[in-house]
Parts: sequence; C-alpha cells; structure tokens
Amino acid sequence: MLQIQRVARQNASKGGRRIAVKAGSWQSYRGMASSSEGYDVVVIGGGPGGYVAAIKAAQLGLKTACVEKRGALGGTCLNVGCIPSKAMLNNSHLYHQAQHDFKKRGIDVDGISLNLPQMLKAKTDAVTGLTKGIEFLFKQNKVDYIKGSASFVNANKLSVDLLDGGKQEVDSKNFVIATGSEVAPFPGGAITIDEQQIVSSTGALDLQKVPEKMVVIGGGIIGLEMGSVWSRLGAEVTVVEFLGSIGGVGIDGEVSKQFQRLLAKQGLKFKLNTKVLSAEKKDGKVYLQAEAAKGGKEETLEADVVLVSVGRRPYTDGLNLEAAGVEKDNKGRIVIDDQFTTSVSNIKCIGDVTFGPMLAHKAEEEGIAAVEFIKHGHGHVNYAAIPSVVYTHPEVAWVGQTEEDLKNAGVKYNIGKFSFSANSRAKTNLDTDGFVKFLAEKDTDKILGIHIVGPNAGEMIAEGVLAIEYGASSEDVARTCHAHPTLSEAFKEAAMAASSKPIHM
Ligand SMILES: Cc1cc2nc3c(=O)[nH]c(=O)nc-3n(C[C@H](O)[C@H](O)[C@H](O)COP(=O)(O)OP(=O)(O)OC[C@H]3O[C@@H](n4cnc5c(N)ncnc54)[C@H](O)[C@@H]3O)c2cc1C
Repeated sequence: MLQIQRVARQNASKGGRRIAVKAGSWQSYRGMASSSEGYDVVVIGGGPGGYVAAIKAAQLGLKTACVEKRGALGGTCLNVGCIPSKAMLNNSHLYHQAQHDFKKRGIDVDGISLNLPQMLKAKTDAVTGLTKGIEFLFKQNKVDYIKGSASFVNANKLSVDLLDGGKQEVDSKNFVIATGSEVAPFPGGAITIDEQQIVSSTGALDLQKVPEKMVVIGGGIIGLEMGSVWSRLGAEVTVVEFLGSIGGVGIDGEVSKQFQRLLAKQGLKFKLNTKVLSAEKKDGKVYLQAEAAKGGKEETLEADVVLVSVGRRPYTDGLNLEAAGVEKDNKGRIVIDDQFTTSVSNIKCIGDVTFGPMLAHKAEEEGIAAVEFIKHGHGHVNYAAIPSVVYTHPEVAWVGQTEEDLKNAGVKYNIGKFSFSANSRAKTNLDTDGFVKFLAEKDTDKILGIHIVGPNAGEMIAEGVLAIEYGASSEDVARTCHAHPTLSEAFKEAAMAASSKPIHM
C-alpha cells in the first residue's frame, strides 16, 4: 500500500498542475475564476474536514478552492466547538485548582477571584489566532478562499453568494461537501433556544455571568464539558439525562460509572433516567418540567440558565443538493459509499454532514482520504481506530470496543486494568483518580479496546490508537519501554495486566 502511494505521489509530482495565483489572495484571483477555467476540486465548508481536504488537495497538485460562509475558517470546531470549549475548560480548571487545590501543594495565594471577561477574551484570542492561522495555510498552499455561501447549480457548478456582496459562479470537476452540523433543537420544539437563558453549546461558551443554578439537558460529552466549566466557576450544575448513564455513545460502562462518581465528587448533580418535557421562563428564572424516562411523577427544576445539549444534526441548508442530484437519508445525512462518493460520481462528502461520529479528527481523516481518492483512486480511514476524548478533569478517553460491545458480539476477552493510584507520577502530582483498562482478545491477545479515565487521558490515548492501528497485542505494549516517572507507565502496566501481570499493583 505504501509503495503504491509512493509511486502515485511521484506521478502526481510529475504531472500535477500547480495553481498560479499571483498575489496569493482571493480578491486578486476572483476576477480570473471564470467558468471556463474551473477548478479540479472545490470544497464546500472550511471546518476541520473541509480546510484539511482543501490543503491536502492543493498539496497533491489539484487546483483547489474552499468556500466558507462563516467569515472565518475552522468551522464549528475552531469557532464554537473544540477550541473555545477547551480554552474554557483549561482556564476554569486552573481557577478551580487555585481555589481548592493549591493550598495542599504548599502554594498560598490570597484574593483569588474570577475575571470572567478576561477568561472569555483569552478564549476569543485563541480562536482568532487559530482561524487566522488556517488562512495563512491556505495562502501557503495556494488554496483559493472564497468567502460566501455556496449552492449547487448543477453537478459541476456552484453559485456563491459572496459575503462582501454579489454572486460568483464556480466551476469544478470535483466537489467535496463538508458543511458540517448544527445544534439539534429540543425534540418536538417544546423548548426554544434563545442563547441568553436557554442556551446551546454556543451560548454556553459565552455566558457573561456565572449562573447560580444551571441545568444541563443531556449528559453527553458536550454537556459534561460545559457543565464542568460552569461548575468550576461557581454554578450549581444539575445534569439531566434520559438514559441511565453519562458520557454518550461509545463509552465503556465501567468507565462511565467511575466518571460519574468523580464528577459528582466535584459537585455536579445528576438526574439520570429523566426526561425533560418543557421549559417556562418566569421572573428571570427558567422552570423545567421533567418526569421519569419511563413515565411517572413530574417534577419542576429551577435554573438561571439551561443548556440544551441533546446532540447535533447534519447541516445542508441552502446547498440546493437537488440541483446536483445528491441524496440524503431520512436523518438528513448525505449518503456516501466507501470512497466518500455521494449519489453523484464527482461529488464527495465528509465530516459531520455524513455518517459516523461527529468529531473533528474523524472529519480531518476523511478529508484527506476523500481527496486522495480523487487524485489517486485510493484512500483510507480506519474507523476502528478513531479516539474519543472528554476534556473534563480527569479526562476520559477511549478507542476501539467497549466491554458491552464485546459481550454483545460474543467475543471472549481478557481485561487488564491499572489504577492511577498505583502510578508514581500520578501520586507525585496528587492526581490519582481513575484507571487504564485494556480489552484484548482471549485467544490472540490482540487489543480490541482501550479505555482511560484519568489525568492526561486525551494525550495518552494516542498510544492506544497507534497500537490498534498496527494490530498490536497487549504484550506488544507491555514489552515497550515507557519513561519513568510518567503517567504512561499506567498504560504499560494495564497492558501487562492484560497479557500477564502488572508489577506495581
Ligand atoms: C461545543 C463543542 C465542542 C466540541 N468539541 C470537540 C472536541 O473536543 N473534539 C472533537 O473532535 N470534536 C469536537 N466537537 C465536534 C466538532 O466541532 C465537529 O465534529 C467538527 O467541527 C466537524 O467538522 P466538519 O468540517 O465536518 O464541519 P464544521 O466544523 O461544522 O464546518 C462546516 C463549515 O461549513 C460551512 N458551511 C455550511 N454550509 C455552507 C455553504 N452552503 N457554503 C459555504 N460554507 C458552508 C459552515 O459555516 C461551517 O464553518 C465539538 C463540537 C461542539 C459544538
């Protein structure tokens, strides 16, 4: 496979076309982009899927443009998702530590107080810096950045409503649709998001005041991350979840239970198996009606701010897919085959707007593979090795299958577990909550799943992803030298526990 790719790369560099953009800016190029000229690839949407696809396409020698209507690149992830939420998570964690944790470490700090406007500014600065960085990468890679809203005229032509006025027709041999997702409304329309008192994740990233009481509807990753932020900053947070567990799809049952215990220890309250029915705004408060998921006695929950975090849905508004003949399924996802091709052969689709987990790194992988298919006729995403991370403290991260998956599939497995309370670095750091759990096939020892709840789980899971990508056994990881003293030794010890026995537990 690598050999094929290398040969394909050599051919591409011999025959590939380069774009000759004089001043490097779209404004200077716009007048030249006539219909007759056209592009090799036009990517619709400049989120992590779209911008990565565009850069990769240009690197492969394809004449490429990316159309984005937001006025900034980076999509949901950089503007209202991954990046601003992680800025708030990191800084609220430091604030919380300074208040509740520094003293026991021998650090006396007086007069700690929250400067929320400055914390929000730090978040905005991070976002602005990174979105501008992508514009720079576009220029460096000679991707034309078309600022506007795209809609199909036919399978080879877009009409773009430019943000600075006017329309532009854009022709291309190929398109990659990467228009992402939007906040899913509350089912049945019983609760309307106003982004002030009843907010989506977007509003929750920009509250101008710490609410006294916050109710989070939905105990998935985004709800738990945002609930953690405002809890650390002083809000009394209650998470209401329809299901009997937290963490959303794909989390291992044992990890979910431990995670809930740890968050509860930090002050978050949970109402599981509970269904929110409606919301009423009155006298500056929001009153939520809720009942047991299976039906039963109703109760009223009072909040200053309610976060509706019940999921996201694919976004295709205004794309005029019908004009090109692109089909969607009954959930609004654009239908693709295993080469990311839609129902129209020259139009591919990636990221949140199609199947699979709504994750930035999944969208990026697909972006690269989709343009490799366009250029070379082959590309690859290993969906069995896509990690998930919850960026709370401690973090939760996993890759591969859960114990529940394996039981349901009738697969026999060994478990190897190692607790951070037995890891020297975690003890040194006074940060010992959680464990690493390996699931390996009983007969072959092949790693089937790795689940971590603990400090730096989101970084550590990369080793697990690599192991699964290369089809490693738990013994392979157990026999790999890990630096001492590091948290990653807990990872090695869990692998040892799966393949034989750990040393330190
Ligand atoms: C609060 C929050 C936190 C998150 N945290 C994480 C995280 O930590 N890690 C993670 O992996 N994922 C996270 N996600 C999910 C992640 O943001 C998405 O999975 C990712 O952004 C999807 O990338 P995408 O390129 O498919 O779409 P998007 O990022 O949604 O980008 C699509 C872009 O297309 C543009 N567009 C749409 N229609 C048109 C049109 N007609 N013309 C031109 N442009 C158009 C939109 O303006 C948008 O900018 C988070 C999401 C949220 C909301």
